[in-house]
Amino acid sequence: MTEVVKTDEEWREQLTPEQYEVLRRKGTERAGTGKYAYSKDDGMYRCAACGAALFSSDAKFESGTGWPSFTEPAVAEAVELHEDRKFGMRRTEVTCRACGGHLGHVFPDGPGPTGQRYCINSVSLELDPS
Ligand code: FE
Repeated sequence: MTEVVKTDEEWREQLTPEQYEVLRRKGTERAGTGKYAYSKDDGMYRCAACGAALFSSDAKFESGTGWPSFTEPAVAEAVELHEDRKFGMRRTEVTCRACGGHLGHVFPDGPGPTGQRYCINSVSLELDPS
């Protein structure tokens, strides 16, 4: 997998302010505001920063949270998991392995065989329609 390494200045130039805030500063978009929160379109959700294939629409489900939610990544190696203890919570952060961009968090309360709920910011994604 290609590693994408850019300076903070380069990311700032490439990304929109909203994308920069989430992908590079680990922000969170407001629930229900993201363009993919309720999307049912088919395709591959790619990293909005580097284009890596992250989540297939086949794994998307309606979680009722207002964020696009997936049961699993397109390939396990596409993402990296990190312990996140910010805000007095113990959560698992999800980042894009190729560029290190922040995507969201994963929780063990998802449906189906994986039991996982990848709760991802729309702004970190770009749907590649199929
Ligand atoms: Fe990426």
